[in-house]
Amino acid sequence: MENSIKYKIIVLSGKGGVGKSTVATNLAVGLALNGLDVGLMDIDIHGPNIPKMLGIEGSRVQGRDGRIIPVSYGESLKVMSIGFLIPEEDDPVIWRGPLKMNLIRQFVEQTDWGNLDYLVIDSPPGTGDEPLSAVQSFKGLNGAIVVTTPQDVSLLDSKKAINFARALNIPILGIIENMSGFICPHCGEVTEIFKSGGGERISLEMNVPFLGKIPIEPQIVTSSDEGKPYVYFYNRLKSASIFEDIVNRVRATLEEI
Ligand code: ADP
Repeated sequence: MENSIKYKIIVLSGKGGVGKSTVATNLAVGLALNGLDVGLMDIDIHGPNIPKMLGIEGSRVQGRDGRIIPVSYGESLKVMSIGFLIPEEDDPVIWRGPLKMNLIRQFVEQTDWGNLDYLVIDSPPGTGDEPLSAVQSFKGLNGAIVVTTPQDVSLLDSKKAINFARALNIPILGIIENMSGFICPHCGEVTEIFKSGGGERISLEMNVPFLGKIPIEPQIVTSSDEGKPYVYFYNRLKSASIFEDIVNRVRATLEEI
């Protein structure tokens, strides 16, 4: 069956380690919690962490009629990750260029998503060959979200990611500043560990929407290590309620609701 996908969103970052996979996972889960049919595709070949973040790292994908069937997570989320194809989670993936590009293309073309409202794509980090083949393998991406941290180096990298999306004609849904300040779990005071506000500055400078600031929250690490995305804890965690707003803004932009 041909896939029918209403909206495809790619999550980009100028460099690794800024929380791109965490954002992609929480966006997909957040959309699924809205009752939508969602796919989450992890094409971060060298760090396919999404199965672990969802606690489904032991799962394996099945094939049917030359198509790859994604793994189901709950009622309305389907997940596809290169991590499902690697025998041991600590095996590094050492593939040479052309093989990697083929793998990405095959992954994109052969996954049997069926009907989806949203497909969220966790891109490889940076603006090199791998994100480029990821983007080129998809037809008609509806939007890109750029994740950055507040430090200057990361902000510079995020400008590159914005320009990368522009050069490829992907509308930019906005920028998220992750790890923006630390909220003390005891007294609630905010400490700006990596400064703050740079994401907003870049959004003004580059004329792209600013989607929100997510603080450093120790529970984000524990929840993703336990395979439970933090967006589930929206009534208890500040970052989860911020994320709920981000999900609503993304929906409002794309669906014009
Ligand atoms: P990337 O995909 O950009 O390489 P990840 O999403 O894998 O980054 O995040 C890197 C690490 O940082 C993970 O352990 C994740 O749980 C943690 N992390 C991400 N965002 C936050 C946050 N706002 N607060 C605390 N830890 C975070």
